[in-house]
Amino acid sequence: MGKALIIGCGGVASVTIHKCCQNSEVFEEICIASRTKAKCDALKAKLDGGKTKISTAQVNADNVNELVALIENFKPDVVINLALPYQDLTIMDACLATKTNYVDTANYEPLDTAKFEYKWQWAYRERFEKAGITALLGSGFDPGVTGVFSAYAQKHYFDEIHYIDILDANAGDHGYPFATNFNPEINIREVTANGSYWENGKWVETEPMEIKRVYNFPQIGEKDMYLLHHEELESLALNINGIKRIRFFMTFGQSYLTHLKCLENVGMTSIEPIEYEGKQIVPLQFLKAVLPDPATLGPRTKGKTNIGCIFQGIKDGKPRTYYIYNVCDHQECYREVESQAISYTTGVPAMIGAMLLMNKTWNKPGVYNIEEFDPDPFMDALNQWGLPWQESFEPELVD
Ligand code: NDP
Repeated sequence: MGKALIIGCGGVASVTIHKCCQNSEVFEEICIASRTKAKCDALKAKLDGGKTKISTAQVNADNVNELVALIENFKPDVVINLALPYQDLTIMDACLATKTNYVDTANYEPLDTAKFEYKWQWAYRERFEKAGITALLGSGFDPGVTGVFSAYAQKHYFDEIHYIDILDANAGDHGYPFATNFNPEINIREVTANGSYWENGKWVETEPMEIKRVYNFPQIGEKDMYLLHHEELESLALNINGIKRIRFFMTFGQSYLTHLKCLENVGMTSIEPIEYEGKQIVPLQFLKAVLPDPATLGPRTKGKTNIGCIFQGIKDGKPRTYYIYNVCDHQECYREVESQAISYTTGVPAMIGAMLLMNKTWNKPGVYNIEEFDPDPFMDALNQWGLPWQESFEPELVD
């Protein structure tokens, strides 16, 4: 059917690339382009021989001209941005210049401020619409599948959704006292920031990790979970009818939190550059360099993830609750694509989002969050491509 350019070759990209190769009817040709070309070449060597034709390239995704040259040379139908949130805008600029569709899994965040927001990417709406191309924002799991679950609940089960709780549990154990499951810099910026949730039309801000609940997750059991700010809250608050409150909770073990507190207390999680032996270094970037590379956690991680949404609202005048979630097993993911479940749960939806743009199932020019599209084809594809979902109409609620 067509060609995809995948930018980045880290944990998430590796899963997306494996999945594109499994789906060679749609992804006839892919180009893997990243800062370190050797990583792209190593993955190509592993996957070559299948039906999808693979090429590789070196690119600095902070540089629009380099991106434009690469896109003009390869002529993809879609660019899948799996680099870091800092590159979102340059890649969107290059897509505009070349009239190419765009998909990502994380919203833009300036390098020097730990504050991710959609406003920068939403500012491209008119230009994408005029160019006749689509930007699909947030096609990972959260954001991503959580938005699709919300659109699905809205379409099939509710007239109005009043409350959404997004619950993200990782019961995986990698055996290290402290490591992060995806890019440590992005992960630590997210969890050390203030928490917040949306209630009655405005944001309520909390201290980091201030709100804790215990939840009994299907197939995992009881876990401590903490309220975080998370990017899909911003778009879901606007796109779901009748919403009164939306919160996001993520599980963390005590060892992770104790290490994080200690690193924070000694200044290692700061993003303010400091001078060290005549050189400017950012403590958090240095910390990233000494922590285990998330890509190496795959073979060591055992256990499951459970990510889903609990909805409360009204259907035909009656109150209704609905819980929809996916459970993923770290070791099964590793056996299939040599990655743990965190990368898997993000990389599979990125492939699905790109597929739905390529085969024109989702076809509207502009910049959209994932819940603004018809959820049904995505829900079918989740079952088909390794992230089957389960539902319950009498879930335990979060107080
Ligand atoms: P990694 O750090 O493993 O991979 C990032 C990749 O991007 C690396 O290959 C890196 O190159 C490359 N890269 C970074 N900067 C540049 C640049 N300037 N030019 C070209 N390539 C660059 O990250 P992950 O795979 O864990 O995460 C990828 C994205 O997925 C992130 O944006 C993250 O926020 C998002 N994510 C989304 C989730 C969701 O559910 N929606 C969940 C988890 C992650 P190099 O190899 O040289 O370092």
